[in-house]
Amino acid sequence: MASQRIRMVGDPVLRRRADDVTDIDSKLARLAGDMLRTMYDAPGLGLAAPQVGVRKRFFVYDVGEGPQVLINPVITETDGEWNYLEGCLSVPGLHFDIVRPKQIHLTGYDIDGNEVSLEADELLSRLFQHELDHLDGVLLLEHLDEEQRREANREVRKLQLERGESERSGGSGRLSLP
Ligand code: ZN
Repeated sequence: MASQRIRMVGDPVLRRRADDVTDIDSKLARLAGDMLRTMYDAPGLGLAAPQVGVRKRFFVYDVGEGPQVLINPVITETDGEWNYLEGCLSVPGLHFDIVRPKQIHLTGYDIDGNEVSLEADELLSRLFQHELDHLDGVLLLEHLDEEQRREANREVRKLQLERGESERSGGSGRLSLP
């Protein structure tokens, strides 16, 4: 199984809300396996299905405790605030200080179809919120203040120009930032 191409900022698939997973089956398990491989190759701590062009509500992650898959996740509670220098495999090379809730409670399903209910704090909580954003078509750029966003726009444009030159046929799409 090959590792997949990670979609980059400007790709419309990153801006669309993904659909609920209806079947947790061997096809999904294979896809999740490919995504984990892609995530480890990148390397990253998490990867959401839309980042490989799949409009389904699930993501894979590993924060040092082994590979995990979370399907149809829903945040049911949030508490506190936490600032973290956040990055994204779809916005490579850029990191932004972003404040989000510190703790969350999240429910969903694992790859065997079992219901899961998780408490997450700090890094794991941040990862869940970031990946869940991807399922809603939201990029971390949308959490920036105006000044950060102007700076980010410049950097993203630069990235896209560089990529456009090396990967002209990649179809990375037109830049559209809020
Ligand atoms: Zn991301």
